[in-house]
Amino acid sequence: MEQARPLMEIDWTSRGRARVWALMALGTLVCIAAAFAIDSYDVATGGWRWGSDPVNNFVIPALVAPPFFYLLLDKMRQLAIAHNELMTVATTDGLTSLLNRRAFTELVDGYLKRVKESEWQSGGALLVIDVDHFKAVNDRFGHQTGDEALKLISRTIRETVRDTDLVGRIGGEEFCVFMPGQAPDSASALAERIRIAVAESEFAPGGSRHDLSVSVGGVAFDHFFPFSELYRSADERLYAAKHNGRNRVEFRLQAAGGHQPAMH
Ligand code: GH3
Ligand code: MG
Ligand code: MG
Repeated sequence: MEQARPLMEIDWTSRGRARVWALMALGTLVCIAAAFAIDSYDVATGGWRWGSDPVNNFVIPALVAPPFFYLLLDKMRQLAIAHNELMTVATTDGLTSLLNRRAFTELVDGYLKRVKESEWQSGGALLVIDVDHFKAVNDRFGHQTGDEALKLISRTIRETVRDTDLVGRIGGEEFCVFMPGQAPDSASALAERIRIAVAESEFAPGGSRHDLSVSVGGVAFDHFFPFSELYRSADERLYAAKHNGRNRVEFRLQAAGGHQPAMH
C-alpha cells in the first residue's frame, strides 16, 4: 500500500528557509525578552519591577531584530548551499554522476576503519567492473558515443545494486561497487545480475545495435581488511575474468593468510 505523504515537506536542513524563519522568530523573542528584563531591573534599588516601556521593550526589538537575524541567517544558508554544491562537485564524477575515485576510496576506507575500531562483526563485498573491449566502441562510434555507453553502464549498475551500496567510477571504463553488510552468496549473485543487466542493455547508436559487456572481479570479506588489500584482490579476480573470456564474474572470499576459496 502506498504510504501517505505530507502535502508539503519542510526542509529543516541548513540549506532550507524554514530554519531561517524559525531561528529569526526565536532570536526576535530572545531580544524582546532581554529588553523587557533590562527595563524591569531597577539599577538604583537593585530590585525587579514590572517593565512598562512598550517602545523599548517591544516595538524597537520587534522592528530591528527580524531584519538583522534574517540577513545573518540567510547569508549562512547561502554559504551552506555553496558548500554543499562544492562538495558535490568535488566528490562526483562529471560524466556519470557516480562517486569519483577519491571520494569512493575515502568513503570505503573510512567505513572499513570504523568497522575495525568498533569491532563489529560486519562483512561485505567489493566489486571491480571493467567494460569489455571498450576501445572498440570508441573506434567504431567515436568518443562521444563511447561516453553515452559509459553513462548507460553506470545507470545500469546503479539501478541493479541497493541504495545503500556505494558505486564509483574509479577509472576511464572501470567501476567499483562496495556492498557493506552483504553476505558472499548474495554479493556474487548481485555481481552476476550486473553482468546480465549490462549484457541485456539496449545500446544502439545511430540505430545499429552494439552488444556491451562487462567483466567483474569480486571479493567478499567477513572481518577487517584495508581497502587497498580488498581492491588488489578484486582486481586480480577481474584479471582472471578477462583472461577466462570476458563477460563473466570471478568472485572470491577474502581470507587472511593468502588461502582464498573460489566461489565460482
Ligand atoms: P578490455 O576488455 O581488455 O578491458 O579492453 P578495453 O578495450 O576495454 O581496454 P583498454 O584499456 O585497452 O581500453 C580502454 C579504453 O577506454 C581506452 C580509452 O580510450 C577508453 N576510455 C577511457 N576513458 C574514457 C572516457 O571517459 N570516455 C570514452 N569515450 N572512452 C574512454
Ligand atoms: Mg576495458
Ligand atoms: Mg580498464
